[in-house]
Amino acid sequence: MELRQRIEELRRVIEHHNYCYYVLDAPEITDAEYDALMRELQSLEEAHPELITPDSPTQRVGGELLAAFATVEHPVPLLSLANAFTEEELLHFDRRVRDLAGAEKVEYVLELKIDGLAVALTYEGGTFVRGATRGDGYRGEDITANLKTIRSLPLHLRGEYPRVLEVRGEVFMPIEAYRSLNAAREERGEEPFANPRNAAAGSVRQLEPRIAASRSLDIFVYGIGISRGREFHTHSEALAYLQGAGFKVNRHYVLCQDIGEVLAAVRQWDPQRRRDLPYGIDGLVVKVNSLALQERLGTTAKSPRWAIAYKFPAEQMVTTVKDIIVSVGRTGVLTPTAVLEPVRLAGSTVGRAGLHNLDYIREKDIRLGDQVIVQKAGDVIPEVVAVLPERRTGKEREFEMPGRCPACGAEVVRLPGEAAYRCTGLACPAQLQESLFHFASRDAMAIDGLGPSLIKQLVKRGLVKSPADLYRLTRDDLLGLERMGEKSAANLLTAIEASKDKPWDRLLFGLGIRFVGSRVARILADHFPNLQALMAAGEEELKAIPEIGPKVAASIRRFFAEPQNQLVIKGLEEAGVNSGGKEEQGETRSQPLAGKAFVLTGTLAGFTRSEAKELLEGLGAQVQGSVSAKTDYVVVGANPGSKLDKARELGIPVLTEEEFEVMLAEWQSFGTSRL
Ligand code: NAD
Repeated sequence: MELRQRIEELRRVIEHHNYCYYVLDAPEITDAEYDALMRELQSLEEAHPELITPDSPTQRVGGELLAAFATVEHPVPLLSLANAFTEEELLHFDRRVRDLAGAEKVEYVLELKIDGLAVALTYEGGTFVRGATRGDGYRGEDITANLKTIRSLPLHLRGEYPRVLEVRGEVFMPIEAYRSLNAAREERGEEPFANPRNAAAGSVRQLEPRIAASRSLDIFVYGIGISRGREFHTHSEALAYLQGAGFKVNRHYVLCQDIGEVLAAVRQWDPQRRRDLPYGIDGLVVKVNSLALQERLGTTAKSPRWAIAYKFPAEQMVTTVKDIIVSVGRTGVLTPTAVLEPVRLAGSTVGRAGLHNLDYIREKDIRLGDQVIVQKAGDVIPEVVAVLPERRTGKEREFEMPGRCPACGAEVVRLPGEAAYRCTGLACPAQLQESLFHFASRDAMAIDGLGPSLIKQLVKRGLVKSPADLYRLTRDDLLGLERMGEKSAANLLTAIEASKDKPWDRLLFGLGIRFVGSRVARILADHFPNLQALMAAGEEELKAIPEIGPKVAASIRRFFAEPQNQLVIKGLEEAGVNSGGKEEQGETRSQPLAGKAFVLTGTLAGFTRSEAKELLEGLGAQVQGSVSAKTDYVVVGANPGSKLDKARELGIPVLTEEEFEVMLAEWQSFGTSRL
């Protein structure tokens, strides 16, 4: 019972879409979706042949005719094509053909499947007398007047011609023309056409030939329906004749000796090559070359048995957003991802699509439960192209970013001017490796020997859950790690111990507060006696410090307001890390570049402009905006501007990025060696 119902439902739905597509030239779903419905119906009917009815869409070609045009009977029906979606299905087609032919191999012609609409063109005595749409395959619409407006359609045949010739071909609209037609329609507030095929069909079925004439239609012919007075033996011979008679035959057809050659030729049509064509194709067509064999194979009610359309894997599909989940990256940024109802897309199953950030979601208005078009452009991660708001049921819900980090529960903040939402947790497991690495880095706590692979192991084994845990590590803990000998363990423990006495601005920088680089940390440390005092400071007090703007102040406040962070800081202080309480043991940071003036020009590969500036300023240098006689060095990145010319003119030393890096390293070690 249920099966019968499903079949009936599918038929109803498919009929509806046929009407929209063939009669109205305005499909409501994508071809891939339509094909999926059709496939489901076909397979149900195959399993239960007793349920097939003659009016089932699987048994019929095309759609209804428009009453506006005179009806033309097709003496030889214009059929549809069976579809293959995989190479496997092409091989299956070949096997069936060879079985019926009783031959070891069969010659095929492979052609492009032009995405337009089929027409039959009748020539009598070499003159074009009638052109008709495919219609329902047996009767079509007389669109002679409109077809005559197509410049590439010959009104008279060249050379010798049969008494009567019925030629079949595809009317299409070149992509360029389609784009400008749609742009003009949108400008006038009219519905754009869904695809070039519908644009071509809508144009050729205009009652007003003048309009059809204005639509830049074109035609490729690909076969002969009737020929009286001339015999053809192969399909390729027919194509060659048509070309000679003055028709446009698509030049990409290939004659293949067997199915192996067909597959090789099919594989050449990758998405890029397809996109390079100035017209749309929705697949390739494989046709048996011998006309005698075609005849023997015959047709079903819907399609010939001697041809098959190979449909390219869909690059776009419609699916449902089941959920939007949020993950936390290494730097604390929260990234939303759509969990999709899995769909086959360009040869693989897609179940997720990246949504970047909340702005992106809002801009596209993606809601939970929405139907969306997804695409895999190139080989990248699938993306949501658009929402189909007309399919909403009212049950869809807007997505909100979580207020707390899904990985650690710390507060999530969006800082002014940033698209990203960030977790503020210092001990957030998602960010732990990154934050430990930063904590141990040279400009922070400078813990020599604590590199990325070691940090990874410490985190993985659960030995370190926050920077404070570093100070609880024992020799035994370390000796249990890979590639860790007595000596390196001892060195590492010494380095960790030594880091406790670094000036407290280093600790502050090491905490990795957003917008608090080493220079800002130093300014803050100059202003407050210790970390506790800084933590107690209100936003206003922070903003009162020159060089601390509202953005930085807000970021600092939020960081210290997070209980998780307070706990980590407490742990650090208990471990004996200097947070300002210790006497500064003569530890003044040396400023090896004090009094030196630098100018940066061009793009540096390893630093942003502001990073380079901050580094230089941290070493006491001044960074100028333009080159003058007072400049000491000019650092040059890629594509430098006129500053380089100026430097040369004035004879000022120029540093490449490499030289700059080497010198920076020296200056920095000079800086720390005095500590
Ligand atoms: P078809 O497009 O799969 O194949 C048959 C047609 O291919 C021929 O009639 C001819 O017009 C064309 N063709 C192009 N190049 C050819 C060549 N070199 N040799 C022979 N034929 C060539 O079959 P169809 O019955 O016209 O339509 C089915 C197609 O229409 C499917 O792709 C389906 O997805 C789409 N469709 C979509 C909707 C929708 O709502 N989106 C509805 C109905 C049909």
